[in-house]
Amino acid sequence: MKSPFIETLDHQRDTMIRSHLIDRGIRDQAVLNAMREVPREEFVSDRFFDKSYGDHPLPIAEGQTISQPYIVAYMTEALELDSTDRVLEIGTGTGYSAAVLSRIVTIVYTVERLGELAKDARQRLERLGYSNIVIHEGDGTLGWQEHAPYDAIVVTAGAPNVPKPLLEQLSIGGRLVIPVGMSYDSQELIRVRRTSELDYRTEQLCDVRFVPLIGAAGW
Ligand code: SAH
Repeated sequence: MKSPFIETLDHQRDTMIRSHLIDRGIRDQAVLNAMREVPREEFVSDRFFDKSYGDHPLPIAEGQTISQPYIVAYMTEALELDSTDRVLEIGTGTGYSAAVLSRIVTIVYTVERLGELAKDARQRLERLGYSNIVIHEGDGTLGWQEHAPYDAIVVTAGAPNVPKPLLEQLSIGGRLVIPVGMSYDSQELIRVRRTSELDYRTEQLCDVRFVPLIGAAGW
């Protein structure tokens, strides 16, 4: 028999999928499956354990945040992923969104500028058995040239504008989803599609609020 505690988490996870994701328009079955599969409670600190599946972001170490589940699902869906895709994420944080991505695509490369977060995320993902995520500690505004080009790139911190290296590291047909805005704490989520060697098409998706992307091509 399941403990009441686990039952509560199961219930909260179901509510997240149904009320916070499906009812708000998330349709991609692969995204919904991934959100159902990844144990978010393993990524939040103990003191927020019972709030793991709440409809809000949560504080993590180093003054950063793990995004609201809806935003993770929305951004993942906006990437229009295919199971053969190779994805670059900027802003590993806890590793949660990387874990979600890893359930959908072949491999996830993820870059985190803060050493402590990168180290904790690496340990956590290893312990949980995620074997198709590679973490790099460094400035993600420069992308990660070594494994480029990427079919999709997602940035989980707010940038003043779109970092050029990320555009260059996108494959033709590739999608970049990134919060962009001239204010430190409010941005617009945009999707940039590389349509040819030299051409990109930009779409505005919605208003969002992320911690700042700090680096050479960021704040
Ligand atoms: N995706 C994360 C949440 C990220 S919060 C999760 O699921 O938990 C944003 C993260 O971006 C923070 O950890 C912050 O340290 C990181 N960050 C900010 N600027 C960065 C940069 N230039 N390169 C890499 N990571 C950066």
